[in-house]
Amino acid sequence: MELQLEALGLPGEDKRPLVIAGPCSAETEEQVMNTATQLAKRGIKIFRAGIWKPRTKPGGFEGIGEEGLPWMQRVKQETGMLVGTEVATAKHVEAALKAGIDVLWIGARTTANPFAVQELADSLRGVDVPVLVKNPVNPDLELWIGALERINGAGVKRIGAIHRGFSSYDKKIYRNTPMWHIPIELRRRIPNIPIICDPSHIGGKRELIAPLCQQAMDLGMDGLIVESHCNPDSAWSDAKQQVTPDILDYILNLLVIRKETASTESLTELRKQIDECDNDLIELLAKRMRVSREIGIYKKEHEIQVVQTDRYSEILEKRGAQGALCGIDSECVKKIFEAIHEESVRQQLDIINK
Ligand code: PEP
Ligand code: MN
Repeated sequence: MELQLEALGLPGEDKRPLVIAGPCSAETEEQVMNTATQLAKRGIKIFRAGIWKPRTKPGGFEGIGEEGLPWMQRVKQETGMLVGTEVATAKHVEAALKAGIDVLWIGARTTANPFAVQELADSLRGVDVPVLVKNPVNPDLELWIGALERINGAGVKRIGAIHRGFSSYDKKIYRNTPMWHIPIELRRRIPNIPIICDPSHIGGKRELIAPLCQQAMDLGMDGLIVESHCNPDSAWSDAKQQVTPDILDYILNLLVIRKETASTESLTELRKQIDECDNDLIELLAKRMRVSREIGIYKKEHEIQVVQTDRYSEILEKRGAQGALCGIDSECVKKIFEAIHEESVRQQLDIINK
């Protein structure tokens, strides 16, 4: 399904990055107003605060609920910023719209559930409000696109995507692994969708916010949604990943925004060389496949099964090590050879079954 999209209609959209900032959760009227005033002073135009919070375990702070909506209205009136919050049910949508919330976003846990997304889509029918859809917790691009399609299918045209990383068992560096190739593939599949990076939920730690913001810009993301709190250490949720408005301002000022593209002579020349390398690679791959088909014929004649696990492991290990010696990440080389092997096996099966 092709998405019918319009511009988000949000301030900052015409230049990168569009910035949304504010606390993980609205906690008290004072915390909301204090944070919002400081952010507005530093030029932030869109304020975020979670009113309803999906927490992994019961007993944590699950959001202030509707009581916090008038605080958001005060932010609008007193600072002139637009305000946004997460919605997870039709009731949230109704309450948020009634309170004049300008931007809605769908959280990662909700995007992972098509029933919940459909319920939200139905509640948004006939409403013209920008909706940002976070990636699902699991690294499933189709599920993310499915959610975008459901919201668009309800007639919402001002849609953006938020990349907040993906849950993984291995939490060594990031709280949620970025897997940048997924938002990059989203951009390829839906070229005109704005993609906003959420370095706070990817990093999970303050010190990762700046490098992640820079990386998002270098990869061509359109905006940033960053958690900022007037007193991060005392935050009721996600304390470790929030920064003060001052620090946020510092981080944003340090960002280097590179040009999307530049057509200079030297770049054109280098790209020509890349094209030549790619042609050589394809020819080599075709040659490798021809040899592989010959092996297939041999296996057929001698009644040998196609996949030989030992040989396959040996190839992956050796090529990975060779790649590392040439300065290429061995895991990347292994992935390439996994794909080559898969095609080899397909071609040999083709021969054996003829
Ligand atoms: C949030 O933005 O505060 C939030 C809960 O994010 P996510 O849905 O990405 O976990
Ligand atoms: Mn949060």
